[in-house]
Amino acid sequence: MLTTGLRPSPIIPSVDFDGKGVQHGHLRLPYSRDDSAWGSVMIPICVIANDYGPTALLTGANHGDEYEGPAALFELAQTLDPSQVNGRIIIVPALNYPAFRAGTRTSPIDRGNLNRSFPGRPDGTVTEKIADYVTRHLIPLADIVLDFHSGGKTLDFLPYAAAHELPDKHQEARCFDAVAAFAAPYSMRMLEIDSVGMLDTTVEEMGKVFVTTELGGAGTASAKSIEIARKGIVNLLRHAGILKGGLNVQATRWLDMPSNDCFTFALDDGLIAFARDLGDAVQIGEIIAQVYPIGKTGIAPIKYRAAMDGVLAARHVPGLIKAGDCLSVIAAITEKP
Ligand SMILES: [Zn+2]
Repeated sequence: MLTTGLRPSPIIPSVDFDGKGVQHGHLRLPYSRDDSAWGSVMIPICVIANDYGPTALLTGANHGDEYEGPAALFELAQTLDPSQVNGRIIIVPALNYPAFRAGTRTSPIDRGNLNRSFPGRPDGTVTEKIADYVTRHLIPLADIVLDFHSGGKTLDFLPYAAAHELPDKHQEARCFDAVAAFAAPYSMRMLEIDSVGMLDTTVEEMGKVFVTTELGGAGTASAKSIEIARKGIVNLLRHAGILKGGLNVQATRWLDMPSNDCFTFALDDGLIAFARDLGDAVQIGEIIAQVYPIGKTGIAPIKYRAAMDGVLAARHVPGLIKAGDCLSVIAAITEKP
């Protein structure tokens, strides 16, 4: 999976990854275009290092319309006292920066979905160049990687941190220990619809500890969800030995996505009337939502039923849905893996 033997990345960092103290800078990606002949994409980056210890890579806005990560990471870069650090923290609050600026999931430059573009290419699109730099230059520096997500403009999630089932059970246990340390209200053993091209998979294949999140969504972040992100970062950095102090761990409910039965996809376009809200218990066969055709009255809605027992962990937003959209995710209640 590692892209070796490739040409150098065109991205130039203005920070010194071996430097100490706090550095605020950019990853400058040359991007020649109509309104700027020798222009660049300027991706903000902060490196905070002190003494000796592990390295954490913290990233937000891998998808540009997900806001808890950027909110908590811009704050962390501004407020963290380097004297509290043993090791190094690399903060990239808005990884797909063009998408983040546009408030969209994918890049307005090339429609690139960064979290489907890994390991990337140094000679590819802007999005592929960002992925390649992360793969070859940032992940190898890190012992632990935290990549923030939420539902963006078309999904809303229960707030959870997550890790994946991995072939290396020792690595898997380290990842779930890190999820437990993050201590979101929910913790998920996460099944991906399609794991090819994800940052997650790239980090995991390099043998690192990886934690992802889904902390809400609907195209915004709430005071509660940002606070979950803020606390989770501090807990994770303390767990990794990079920040001093004890964990501020509250009870978490462990959830599992045991099979594709957890996903429901819309069969036709229409207006969603949910019968259950996020966090509600659902039983197999129960109606989760009805979707009404909106062209005329007098047509029966399509009823969507739970294919398994559990809780409603994610739902579509906003109120209209299209055929093929993810309508809901049900997760099973479980114990820590
Ligand atoms: Zn995302």
